[in-house]
Amino acid sequence: MLRSFKYRLFPNPTQAVALTEMLGSFCDLYNACLQQRIEAYRRQGRALGYIDQANELKAVRLADERLAGYSYSAEQQVVRRLDKAFGAFFGRVRRGRGGFPRFRAKSMFDSADFRVGDGLTIRRSRKITIVGIPGEIKVRWHRELPIGAKVSTAVVLRSCGKWYIRFSVETPDAPGPPPFRAAVGIDVGLISLIATSDGETVPTPKWTDKASRKQRRLQRALARCKRASKGRLKAKMRLARHAARTASRRRDFAHKVSRDLVDRYSHIAFEDLTITGLARGMLAKSVLNAAWAQLISFTDYKAAYAGGLVAKVNPRGTSKECDGCGRVTPKHRSGESPIRGLSRRIHDCPGCGTVEDRDVHAAKVIKHRAFPWSKGPGAGLGASSQRVAA
Ligand SMILES: [Zn+2]
Repeated sequence: MLRSFKYRLFPNPTQAVALTEMLGSFCDLYNACLQQRIEAYRRQGRALGYIDQANELKAVRLADERLAGYSYSAEQQVVRRLDKAFGAFFGRVRRGRGGFPRFRAKSMFDSADFRVGDGLTIRRSRKITIVGIPGEIKVRWHRELPIGAKVSTAVVLRSCGKWYIRFSVETPDAPGPPPFRAAVGIDVGLISLIATSDGETVPTPKWTDKASRKQRRLQRALARCKRASKGRLKAKMRLARHAARTASRRRDFAHKVSRDLVDRYSHIAFEDLTITGLARGMLAKSVLNAAWAQLISFTDYKAAYAGGLVAKVNPRGTSKECDGCGRVTPKHRSGESPIRGLSRRIHDCPGCGTVEDRDVHAAKVIKHRAFPWSKGPGAGLGASSQRVAA
C-alpha cells in the first residue's frame, strides 16, 4: 500500500535560492525537451518518446554544467513528466479534445521528483540533502514516517513561497480481515459537520464560516485590481495564501476526525456524496462539500490501512425515513426555513413515536442501510458472526 507523507522544509536563504534555481533548470530542461519533440515531428515526422530523450540526457548533461550539477534521476523524471503530458494529450485527442502540452513558465514549475537515496538523502541529523543544493535542509517532522517503511520517492514542492517535501511510502497491507470493533453510520450536515448513529455530533469548526467570508472579500479585492498591475499580483498572492491556509486547516481537521472514527469503529457508513448532489445556490453547502469529501476519503484510506471497512450508501430519503418503523414522512413543513426549522432538527415519527435529533437519526438509517446485520436485537448476533469470520 502506497501512502504519502508531506512535511514543511526550512531551507536557509542560500538554499532557497539554490532550490529555485534548480526548479528553473528543470523547467528549462522540460521546455527544451518539448521543443525537441515539436521539431523532430516537424522536420522528420518523427514522434520522440521517453527512451529517445532519456538516452540523450547524458550528453546534454556533459554539455550543460548547470544540469550536470543536479541529480541525474531527478532530471530523468522531468523527461518522464513531459512524456506523461504527451500521454495525456494523446488520450484527450482520442476523446476528440485538443490541448497540446505547453511550454511552462519558471514561476509555475513548482516541483521536482527524486528517488530517495539517489539525489535526495535523509541524513542521520534528520535533515535532508539534495544534490546540487548546499548544506543540509531542515525538515519539520510533525509526524513520524512509519517504522520499517520503505521510502521510495520524494517530491520537493514549492507552494506560495514555502517549501515542502512529500514522501511516498510503501507500507505492508493490513493483515487478514478486519478485527470487529463496532459499526457506525455518519450523517454529514450543515450545522454539525457530522452526526454519528451513536448520538455524537462534531460541530462544523467556526473558522469555516470566517474563512469563506474572507475568501469572498479577497476575491472581490482581486476583481477590483487593474489587469497586469502590481496590486493585482499582490491580491492574487494574498488569495492563494489564504486558500492554502484554509485547505491545510481543513485537512488537519479531517485527519483528526477520521483518525478518531477509524480507531473506534471497524465498519463505517457514509452517504454517497456523488449521488447527493448540491442544492442550488447553497454556498455553505458548497464550501462544506469539499470538507465532507475529504473527511470521507481520509476515513476510507485510514480504514483500509487499519483493516476496517467504509461503506457508502444511497442517501435518498435518509432524512425522511424512520429507523424504528420504516415509515417515510415528507421532508419539512412548508413555510419553515429548511435549515432552521424545528421540524428539520427533530425526528418526530407519527408512526412509532420515536423522537430524536434528526441528524443522529439519519445516521442510524445510514448505518442500517450499509450494515443491516447491525440492527435491532440481531445486532449482537451479527457482530459475533463477524468476529467468527475474522
Ligand atoms: Zn417510526
